Amino acid sequence: MDNRYESSESQRNKCAACYRQFNKMEHLVEHMRTSYHSAHEPMCGICKKHCRSFESLREHLIGPLPKVECERIFKERGCDLCLTILSSRNALYVHREKCQFSRSNNIGLTHRMANLGIQDDLKIDNNRAKVVSLACKMVGGGSDGSLDLCARVCLIDEYEKIIFHTYVKPHLPVTNYRYETTGIRPEFLRDALPLWQVQKKIQDYLCNGEPVWQIRSRCGKGRILVGHGLDHDLKSLEVEYPQMMLRDTAKYPPLMKTSKLSNSLKYLMKAYLGYDIQIGIQDPYEDCVATMRLYMRMRSQRHKVEEYPLASEPQNRNNFAAWRQSELEKMSPEKMLDISRSDYHCWCLDSSS
Ligand SMILES: [Zn+2]
Ligand SMILES: [Zn+2]
Ligand SMILES: [Zn+2]
Ligand SMILES: [Zn+2]
Repeated sequence: MDNRYESSESQRNKCAACYRQFNKMEHLVEHMRTSYHSAHEPMCGICKKHCRSFESLREHLIGPLPKVECERIFKERGCDLCLTILSSRNALYVHREKCQFSRSNNIGLTHRMANLGIQDDLKIDNNRAKVVSLACKMVGGGSDGSLDLCARVCLIDEYEKIIFHTYVKPHLPVTNYRYETTGIRPEFLRDALPLWQVQKKIQDYLCNGEPVWQIRSRCGKGRILVGHGLDHDLKSLEVEYPQMMLRDTAKYPPLMKTSKLSNSLKYLMKAYLGYDIQIGIQDPYEDCVATMRLYMRMRSQRHKVEEYPLASEPQNRNNFAAWRQSELEKMSPEKMLDISRSDYHCWCLDSSS
């Protein structure tokens, strides 16, 4: 009798998302105030535990100390790329075919790119390519060649079609062409478009007819921009674009390390899409395709539809603070999870807008 009482008591103080146990209800309430659990977190398909990132979910399933029952089922019919659990071994085979991408899809194009100078399909319109991805390749400037200067840029649409590609002539003299990784030679930049022209073209294309300061919502004409380390790329291009329109695979919490540091794009592609990129000379088109595919995979996740899904939205501001401590302490862990909201913009929300 006593035993049963104890176990139900500790069950009461157990987080409904990450399953952490607390001695006292007030500690669980405190945990909920700061954890921003939501339906948008990566979740174990077996025990339904929420994880902050796919990496911590991976550890939960196949790390050095996995949860035994989950590991057993995962090894039988879990996809090691997207970490979904399938209904049978057969279903896993069928799924794995689609889940695994290959580099060869774009390698033909990549080779043609080598001789490609300017490709410009940048048009202001109101309906095409709501989502575009961008990647740059940098050469070195400054006395020691460590200053990154954009020398090549590529933009693609969501069907992996090139919208824009060009070599770029930087403002400053190039002191290191970094040929082994960029494949860029001085003659490629000699007659290339100057940076200010590239900057203007890309800026106008992204804003799509709207002044940059007016882009305040996700439902305007401005385009969603996908990339890896976009702040660095945009800075080198001197393009200004609002954070809320950026989808950065280096800064998206579900794709980050457990330590909250960024993963490299090369690692992300191998771990989540199953193929290698950036072997030898790197092509910005390949990086564009990589980030676009990752974005699409993240966006296609099906999550519970919530009203006002972000903790930062005004309706949710101080979601937990609005409640009295005593009221929260009376709530069940499930109810608290129900009112809890994410502190990041889940990319699944882009598909509904
Ligand atoms: Zn928790
Ligand atoms: Zn979501
Ligand atoms: Zn589990
Ligand atoms: Zn998969």
